[in-house]
Amino acid sequence: MDFFPIFMRLRGEPCLIVGGGEIAARKAASLTRAGAAVTVVAPVLCAELERNAKGGLIRHVAEPFVAKHVTDCVLVIAATDDPEVNRRVSQAAHALRIPVNAVDAPALCTFISPAVIDRTPILIAISSGGAAPVLVRLLRERLETLIPAAYGRLARLGHAFRDVVKQRIESLTGRRRFWERAFRGSIPELVFSGQDARAQRELVRQLNEPYLDQAHAGEVYLIGGGPGDPELLTLRALRLLQQADVIVHDHLVSGAVLDLARRDAQRIYVGKESGRHTLPQDEVSALLVALARQGRRVARLKGGDPYVFGRGGEEAEALAAHGVPFQVVPGITAACGIAAATGVPLTHRDYAHSCVLVTGHLRNDSLDLDWDALARPRQTLAIYMGLKGLPILCRELVRHGLAPGTPAMIVEKGTTPGQRTLTGTLESLPRSAPAAGFAPPTLVIVGEVVRLHARLSPHAALDAASRSIDAAAG
Ligand code: SAH
Repeated sequence: MDFFPIFMRLRGEPCLIVGGGEIAARKAASLTRAGAAVTVVAPVLCAELERNAKGGLIRHVAEPFVAKHVTDCVLVIAATDDPEVNRRVSQAAHALRIPVNAVDAPALCTFISPAVIDRTPILIAISSGGAAPVLVRLLRERLETLIPAAYGRLARLGHAFRDVVKQRIESLTGRRRFWERAFRGSIPELVFSGQDARAQRELVRQLNEPYLDQAHAGEVYLIGGGPGDPELLTLRALRLLQQADVIVHDHLVSGAVLDLARRDAQRIYVGKESGRHTLPQDEVSALLVALARQGRRVARLKGGDPYVFGRGGEEAEALAAHGVPFQVVPGITAACGIAAATGVPLTHRDYAHSCVLVTGHLRNDSLDLDWDALARPRQTLAIYMGLKGLPILCRELVRHGLAPGTPAMIVEKGTTPGQRTLTGTLESLPRSAPAAGFAPPTLVIVGEVVRLHARLSPHAALDAASRSIDAAAG
């Protein structure tokens, strides 16, 4: 982070703008909206500033800039079209450690002004630190359309009831839940459609409901965090992640996904890496039960899907046995995420009409699998935890009838920026894999569908596009 975002109270505070043109006028307008006492130093003013000076909205000092103009100001903006003047303004402000912004001169600034979506009292400020102003503008346009104009009124309704709610509901958690429920239900829609009085009545009704007594019941969300790319989370996963008071996660959950949880949520790592168990499974389950019993909302965040090789079933059993309410949020399992990210459809009418998800985890250095069922034609195998057992896996599949030339692929850290793939055959892959130095998590895919990787992987598609562009250019 190159800039620290803050919102500054400027009501009644002296602020200085140097420059009398249109940019200065725009800056003056936003400062006066925030209630600042704006002085504009410039020999001449544009029409708008002239009007505002006459109307008493701003104070005009019709002089060329000198250093003493910055004295006693809390904020300074240099908005002249003369870089030399802007430099002197910046220098004078720097000398007194007054925050200063110089238009189009990042090096002269100690602060930058963001693009703002104004739903007062809610303000959304966006900045790229000067890196991509157009992107910021586009983002702002999107947010403007996404956030109803009445959001400010909704926030003011909340504000009006804050004290009453505080008196009525003692605990902080109880209050937070009350507001979450209020803002998730019908109230926003009523405000957005202009029915503020009804919205207010609904809020009073909810406040008087016996629902409050249950506010202390905790709950566990078994959430599938997907294979790594945060864009692959479901909307429900995202919503619950942002509600949870505690996040219990393991090593498969990517940092990018964790970043989407509520900032102030407690994070508990219970990682399990093969052979190095941080916390035995029954202790994880016991932890979930205990946290929920404290009345907390617990997000048990797992890689992929909770019910696919994720021990989600065991945790759900424990929760059910202890009468702890829970919900399961499906996630994109590694096989599906990787299929899309590598261009290997798990089924395809020409190549495979079934797909088996199977664990290749070694027990006592061997693999106890139903080989006859796995070594079938026109079937895709997605093998989880199969890296160590790869030689046994490939050997047994061939021994039970698959051709040695059957295509096979290893994918490491699928769907993340660190994704690596290696393709080959049941015969070649065990020989070529060690040199690649793969580390878990890796998924092995076996079957004719792997042939499609060359054509359908996102990279292949890009290469083809650039080839055709090259051809057209040539
Ligand atoms: N519940 C998870 C699987 C947990 S078992 C799911 O549905 O995906 C852990 C195994 O999943 C890993 O050893 C690996 O085989 C696979 N896996 C999970 N995420 C992966 C990823 N991003 N890339 C490759 N394999 C992954």
